[in-house]
Amino acid sequence: MIEQDLLRRFLFEELGVRGEWVKLTNSWQAAKLHQRGSENVQQQLGEALAAVVMLSATVKFKGSMILQAQGDGDIKTLVAQATDQRKIRGLVRGKDKVNPGPLEAMFGQGRLVLTIESESGSPYQGVVPLQGSNLAAVLQTYFEQSEQLKTRLWLFANATQAVGLLLQELPVQENYQADWEHIEILANTVTEQEMFDLDCEQLLYRLFNQEKVRVFDAEPVEFSCACSRSNIEKTLFAMGRTELEDILKERDIIEVNCEFCSERYCFDKVDVETILSQKTIAADSETRH
Ligand SMILES: [Zn+2]
Repeated sequence: MIEQDLLRRFLFEELGVRGEWVKLTNSWQAAKLHQRGSENVQQQLGEALAAVVMLSATVKFKGSMILQAQGDGDIKTLVAQATDQRKIRGLVRGKDKVNPGPLEAMFGQGRLVLTIESESGSPYQGVVPLQGSNLAAVLQTYFEQSEQLKTRLWLFANATQAVGLLLQELPVQENYQADWEHIEILANTVTEQEMFDLDCEQLLYRLFNQEKVRVFDAEPVEFSCACSRSNIEKTLFAMGRTELEDILKERDIIEVNCEFCSERYCFDKVDVETILSQKTIAADSETRH
C-alpha cells in the first residue's frame, strides 16, 4: 500500500529519541491549487505545511498551530496552518517569479513566527530570524533556542508531494548525547528521492534497520479550510458602517474571497444591514450592563 496524507510518529525504544514522518499528497495538491507562484515559491509552502503538521504533533493542545514567515523580499508572506485534528491549509503571497537561493534571497530580511492558538488559554508565540539555507534549518534553530531540545528536520516538496522527517531528543536520558549522535549520523544519509519514494516503515528500515523502532498508528491529514460566513461577518462588522456603506455606493455586493481555499462569500445591502444591526444590538446590551 502506498502511504499518503499520513502523519506517523515513532520512537527509538532503547534510545532517547523520538521522531515523526509525514507525507502529504492529495492534501498538498488541494492546498496548492488555491495559491499562485513559481515552483520554488510553492515548494516553500509545501515544506512549511509538512513542517507544521509534524510540529503540531510534538505538543498537546486543542486548536491550531500557525507557521508564518514574513519578509521584505520577493516572498512577502507564507502561512501554513495545522489543527490538532491534522487539518491543513496554507497561503503564499509575493512575486510570481522568485529567484531560487537561500531563504534571505527569497524572503529578504524576515522572521518566522510560530503560534499556537489554543482553545484553552492565551496563544503561545515563538519567533526566530528567517536565516539559513532552508526552512528546516530555521526550525532547527528555533528548537535549539526555545525548547533546548536537539531537533533535526528534513523537508521536501515537489508538484505532487510534500514530505517531512523530524527527529528530536527526549528530555534527559542516560547516554542521550551518544544516542543522538548515532541516530543523527544514520539519518543524515537520507536523500530527497527516498523521502518521496518510500513509505514510513520502508524509510525507517532503510535508515535505522539496526535499531528497535516502534511506529505508532498513522494519523490521516487532510486539506480543510476553517473559513466561514459568520467569521467574515465579524470582519465586516469590525470594518464599521461608514466603510461598508462606502463600498456599497460603488457596487451592489461586497465580495470576499478566502485566501486559503478561494471560497467566495457575497453580501448585498440587506446582508450588510443585518450584520450591522444585529451586532449593534449585542454591543448595546453589553454596554448597558
Ligand atoms: Zn477558506
